[in-house]
Amino acid sequence: MASGLIRCGHCGKANRVPAAAAGTPRCGKCHRPLPWIADADDTTFGEVAEAAKIPVLVDLWAPWCGPFRMVSPALEQLARDLAGKVKLVKVNVDSSPQVSQRFGARAIPTLLVLRRGQVTARQTGAAPLAVLRTWVGNALAGAAG
Ligand SMILES: [Zn+2]
Repeated sequence: MASGLIRCGHCGKANRVPAAAAGTPRCGKCHRPLPWIADADDTTFGEVAEAAKIPVLVDLWAPWCGPFRMVSPALEQLARDLAGKVKLVKVNVDSSPQVSQRFGARAIPTLLVLRRGQVTARQTGAAPLAVLRTWVGNALAGAAG
């Protein structure tokens, strides 16, 4: 399973964070929740996204799509702000045709909020950070419990 280095927003320590884990990642130094940002494809989507214990924000993106360059940093900012509450999973639709087809990702980017593998919110197309923040906040509130 791939893992990536994620810098703690509180103390700055770079932590190695696995793409999938039983709990939520915490900083090895200050023990605060770390932003969880992972990549998934057809093979790993079940483990990385559907099996997650916390809500998952899925970013269905493609390298040829211009707007993702605006949306991706906004989503990563949200993942940092909502560390411990949401996991950001990025799926390159070009290399993940099954995931793309399953969620009908005809427009790129398509954003989904998954709760235990079920889609609880959906947003198609690029939007500014403030709009995405409200959307994700509503989705998480609606998905609670
Ligand atoms: Zn830390």
